Amino acid sequence: MKSHAKVVVIGGGVVGCSVLFHLARHGWTDIVLLERDELTSGSTWHAAGGMHTINGDPNVAKLQKYTISLYKEIEELSGQATGVHLTGGVLLAATEARLDWLRGVVAKGRYLGIDLEEISPDEAADLMPLLDPKQFVGAVRNKEDGHLDPSGVTHAYAKAARKLGAEVERFTKVEDIVRRADGLWRVITNKGEVVAEHVVNAGGLWAREVGRMVGLELPVLAMEHMYLITEDMPEVAAWNQKTGTEIIHAVDFDGELYLRQERGGMLMGTYEKANKPWSEFQTPWNFGHELLEPDIDRIAPSLEVGFRHFPAFQNTGIKQIINGPFTFAPDGNPLVGPVRGLPGFWVACGVMAGFSQGGGVGLALSNWMIEGDPGADIWAMDVSRYGDWATMAYTNAKVRENYSRRFSIRFPNEELPAGRPLKTTPVYDLLSAKGAQWGVAYGLEVPLWYAPDGVKDEFSWRRSSDFEHVAKEVKTVRTSVGLSEISSFAKYRVTGEGAAAWLDRLLACKLPKPGRMTLAPMLKEDGRLIGDFSLANLGDSNRDNGNWFVASSGIAEQYHMRWFEAHLPQDGSVMIEALGAKLTGLSIAGPKARDVLARATRADVSNAAFPFMAIRKMDIGMAPCLVGRVSYTGDLGYEIWVAPEYQRAVYQTLMAAGEDFGIGLFGARALNALRLEKNYGSWAREYRPIYGPLEAGLDRFVAYGKETDFIGKQAALAERQQGGKLRLRAFVVDAADAEIIGDEPIWFDGAVRGWVTSGGYAHHSETSVAMGYLPKEIADEADGFEIELLGKRYRARMQPTPLFDANLERMRG
Ligand SMILES: Cc1cc2nc3c(=O)[nH]c(=O)nc-3n(C[C@H](O)[C@H](O)[C@H](O)COP(=O)(O)OP(=O)(O)OC[C@H]3O[C@@H](n4cnc5c(N)ncnc54)[C@H](O)[C@@H]3O)c2cc1C
Repeated sequence: MKSHAKVVVIGGGVVGCSVLFHLARHGWTDIVLLERDELTSGSTWHAAGGMHTINGDPNVAKLQKYTISLYKEIEELSGQATGVHLTGGVLLAATEARLDWLRGVVAKGRYLGIDLEEISPDEAADLMPLLDPKQFVGAVRNKEDGHLDPSGVTHAYAKAARKLGAEVERFTKVEDIVRRADGLWRVITNKGEVVAEHVVNAGGLWAREVGRMVGLELPVLAMEHMYLITEDMPEVAAWNQKTGTEIIHAVDFDGELYLRQERGGMLMGTYEKANKPWSEFQTPWNFGHELLEPDIDRIAPSLEVGFRHFPAFQNTGIKQIINGPFTFAPDGNPLVGPVRGLPGFWVACGVMAGFSQGGGVGLALSNWMIEGDPGADIWAMDVSRYGDWATMAYTNAKVRENYSRRFSIRFPNEELPAGRPLKTTPVYDLLSAKGAQWGVAYGLEVPLWYAPDGVKDEFSWRRSSDFEHVAKEVKTVRTSVGLSEISSFAKYRVTGEGAAAWLDRLLACKLPKPGRMTLAPMLKEDGRLIGDFSLANLGDSNRDNGNWFVASSGIAEQYHMRWFEAHLPQDGSVMIEALGAKLTGLSIAGPKARDVLARATRADVSNAAFPFMAIRKMDIGMAPCLVGRVSYTGDLGYEIWVAPEYQRAVYQTLMAAGEDFGIGLFGARALNALRLEKNYGSWAREYRPIYGPLEAGLDRFVAYGKETDFIGKQAALAERQQGGKLRLRAFVVDAADAEIIGDEPIWFDGAVRGWVTSGGYAHHSETSVAMGYLPKEIADEADGFEIELLGKRYRARMQPTPLFDANLERMRG
């Protein structure tokens, strides 16, 4: 074994081998994979080998499509058969709600280039002869589904990597990982030590244990999973003989089942409701090529549905039941990327569909390690979406919930209850008493809307029980004044003598003067957005540039801290702190917001003394607060930041001060309706690391001419000169009884040309609205756009100026 390597990959399952292959293909060959046993000795060897392109997140779906397209290449490169059978498949709906969901999947497929087609139950039965069409209301055909040989694929990755110069060391167990003072990693094994620049944790079933070697508690948990294999079935033999083809894949969502042909019989697997975690605290090191005891009682309810939906199963025997463990993150998506605070330590774990996702994970991680950027939008897989709050107990609750819902529909207004409430702010019970219906962002409870007694969310694809109540909240804001809880924003304090210079290089905007705020896009080297912040200068004079306040999307706190810390100067001249729950927030907005604030404080809050985008320290009641004159509602409004011990007092002061002005509470759903009619974008929707500032309409906040060579400046200048490829646009949509939510296709001239990033009902403007990206060539067409929703296309009219307060009189007045 070599003593030094650029990269050590820990784990020879399908994911580790894919990472190794991608690194080697990208040109890094001084790399070694360490596997404690034979390759495939974790969950890989007993997988059912199914592969599919669809995923709830379109960007993950793209990577799944890439994974499937890769198998031919690795087979040719390695000379190792992968056993790929591209049979195609049917996705089955037994209820109308499921068919609505499937129509959304077909719609997304149109701009992802995934060939999906809605078909009738009878047409599905013509393709998959074992199903009873009477049990279904519709189906979708996917030509890119199939299955493969898990061991063959893993060895093909490893052999191809070796051919390119990588090394694989089997029976080499990593026992400890130690960071040296010079930043290199000592990877200590039972066979000696390798010193490496980079370490990749692809430990699969042992990813937690490998993480613990560097003090990291990763939010992953293994679950037991069962599938059965039947005896040979005459129906299968007859079909094979008649058509000369295999029986295609089927996913029966309402039965929570997946099926495929396995030799002369069938394989049927299920994600059962009464599921069981495996090795909740510690994965035994002596576990390897073993299976777990099957428990047919656990899967019996699913099998009962399966036998009804696929009657031929009633007449066949079960040859074998496989029960094996594999790992999940709390939301079921992989954990990929660099780990904050551990330079050179990378993770590629929690991959629950290694044969659909392994290639994409390897590609993104190798790009990230070599180029400094994943090269794709992998937000949904980024390890930074979890923070310290994702504890082992939280992970346990969430993974079990996610497993039991693997094939369940998640409606757009559905919040999942497991692991909650975990983080709450001091006004939580006060708002609950007012009917707050809670959602969650980065572990923190967030009020979504306020329900009268006896009313709650009815989960639906269509307008639901909250519609009229959210409308009332919006009306309160637009006609008098509303109060909302905004603690879920991420808040950062940047201090130190080097702070101004550092921010000037990190952010693309012009720095605001003391007492002022600005919108601050942050770019990567390639000129794409990596953040959008509001930046406030809390310095008292032009000489004091060492006190800055930054606010942004709460879900990106860890993501941004990883970036900030990676760019901090080493000389200690800049300090940055994520304030999290140490700073809570309330916001008031609406035409009467100034009157309310004036009653609650002794500070001068007149327009002259406290204009738009000003920020001041002021007491509200007796509590010391930081107040910014800005509001995401696009109305006259204020964001009030306060230490948590004062939040209740400030809330009560504002509610009392607002009584005469008709103050009411509003939640995140009303805020969405309000920001959409202002054409305001939001992080992880309109603003993502694949869009440039010109494309996203944030170019007006980029100080292209500033002297400082800010990160991404050259690329942003090039984007401005060449015009980029896309444009973000807002639309008014003739939708009927359902709202656009995001990821729907935008049609133009009979073809899908763009995709929606956000949508909803703008209650004040009384119309459905959407925002989305289009190729720039058609982005200024006056008409001809349609948005597809639940299988129908609705006319979408371009709305270049905001529906509300286009000339900013309300906001600045
Ligand atoms: C019953 C069942 C059916 C499944 N069906 C499918 C399916 O149809 N389609 C699909 O896509 N997925 C399926 N899966 C999931 C799939 O198996 C996983 O997504 C995949 O195997 C994950 O691979 P991995 O490389 O991340 O982890 P693992 O396969 O667990 O690999 C991790 C490797 O790391 C090694 N290792 C760990 N720690 C160390 C250390 N300290 N030193 C050295 N080596 C170490 C282990 O020995 C192991 O070989 C199924 C899983 C099960 C259990």
